[in-house]
Amino acid sequence: MAIRRSTTKRNGLPTTVQLRLTPAPAQADALATAVQVCNQAATVVSRLAWQHRVFTVLELHRLAYYEVRAQVAGLGAQAAVRAIARVAAAYANRRASKKRAHIFRPHGAVPYDARLMSFNRDARTVSLWTPTGRVTVPYTGRPEDLKAVDTLSVGEADLICQRGVWLLQVALTLPKPAVREPVGGFLGVDQGVVNLAVTGDGVVLPGPALPGPIGGNGHVRTLRERRHRQRRRLQRKGTSAARRVLRRLSGREHRMMTHLNHQISKFVVREAERTGRGVALEDLQGIRGRVRAHRFQRRTLHGWAFAQQITFTRYKAARAGVAFLLVDPAYTSQGCPECGYVSRANRPARGRFDCQRCGLAGHADHIAARNIAARGAAGWAVINQPHATGLPSARRDRESKSPASVGGS
Ligand SMILES: [Zn+2]
Repeated sequence: MAIRRSTTKRNGLPTTVQLRLTPAPAQADALATAVQVCNQAATVVSRLAWQHRVFTVLELHRLAYYEVRAQVAGLGAQAAVRAIARVAAAYANRRASKKRAHIFRPHGAVPYDARLMSFNRDARTVSLWTPTGRVTVPYTGRPEDLKAVDTLSVGEADLICQRGVWLLQVALTLPKPAVREPVGGFLGVDQGVVNLAVTGDGVVLPGPALPGPIGGNGHVRTLRERRHRQRRRLQRKGTSAARRVLRRLSGREHRMMTHLNHQISKFVVREAERTGRGVALEDLQGIRGRVRAHRFQRRTLHGWAFAQQITFTRYKAARAGVAFLLVDPAYTSQGCPECGYVSRANRPARGRFDCQRCGLAGHADHIAARNIAARGAAGWAVINQPHATGLPSARRDRESKSPASVGGS
């Protein structure tokens, strides 16, 4: 688990707090040994994982549990389990490459979970596992951080010694607000290559609705076009210096998209919250299949950016107690939200919707977002039927394809 050193604030409550431990000298020695042993164990497990090309927790446990306990003196059962989980997580993240065995620094931060650590909030002490037995250490911290530890549920913690000071960086779980009934229906969001997102209210994102210098999609597209030309030029060069520049460029583009996705999802969730609605997006798998991108657009069609927008939106919705659903994307761009008529002929030109039956006309992405919203509402109604037995195990707040479809197949 990557706990950042600084305190992050969400909803005014800290999610990670830093406590200062004040161990007696003998306790400090025990903690130092613990850090060393745990990091050594993680490195042993990591080497085994890499040698055998085994990276999942379960397989890694089978492979490494007895081996690491035999190799690392003083490592208990729980600490061994934790080391294995830590290695699996490291290889799953981009942090550790599978090209070589990941090495854990001997004095690096060591994660502690509930089985290795317990808090006594009244006494302001924490009991921590060490190879020579548990030590009960007093802690101090900023008043607001202490209050947070007193009131919130404690998750994992990182134990680290920085310049002789023992610190415990504790992750706190914020209480998850209950999902409110979307009395106003759903706000649908159409994700696309031309417009990153268009809402059922007709708001085009990114656009003037968002703060910041990026005014609209035209600007984003121009930027990406320029990057693309630059990248092509560098790829043709193929020198190591060119490759370095390439890596930097893709990082920059990645950051720009991440920034935009944060802003878009924030806007969407706030808008839904303000109007008592839930948020509905299309299931990602469908988006890739449906969009027949032009050659010009294909390179802007990064699956990860769509997936990221979904992840951000789901997360922000859960935090705000806003209902969230993924719906079946089939024909959302061809169906008419007014009369239900579905036809390819409803899309006479790129970006245009023109219902051949009832004459409803408009921006194609906007129409699609309205269809998505309707499917969200229909899906929600089905999921929350009191006697919904025999239905596929659709769950609230999780992706579930809407069984109903508006103007769909
Ligand atoms: Zn129609």
